[in-house]
Amino acid sequence: MLLLQLIVVSKVLVAKGKGMEFEKTRRQHMVSLLQRKRWSVHDLAREFEVKVSIVLDDLEHIRRSISSRHKIRIFPSECNDCGFKFKGRSKFTSPSRCPRCKGERISPTMMKIELT
Ligand SMILES: [Zn+2]
Repeated sequence: MLLLQLIVVSKVLVAKGKGMEFEKTRRQHMVSLLQRKRWSVHDLAREFEVKVSIVLDDLEHIRRSISSRHKIRIFPSECNDCGFKFKGRSKFTSPSRCPRCKGERISPTMMKIELT
């Protein structure tokens, strides 16, 4: 009985360890992709076949952990109807609606990792 419990516990630990490793490599891979070109959160979610919420988590983690020589540069969304620029946003996600013309044709917010 005790042996069985030990087996169950060790299997859970192994599964957790693998999950963390997977997460680590995904984030490392994401950093290298973001160093090459601009990505939106939706592009990244599609690339890694994960939910947008997972990408947002990863980006927050990357933002905190990348070296001080690097930063995630955000290229703001624009309204395709009136040209309004969503400057000064630090969010990774795109706004859904233009505050000026109320249009919903908004270009996606893009991110890239650059040297500071
Ligand atoms: Zn607009």
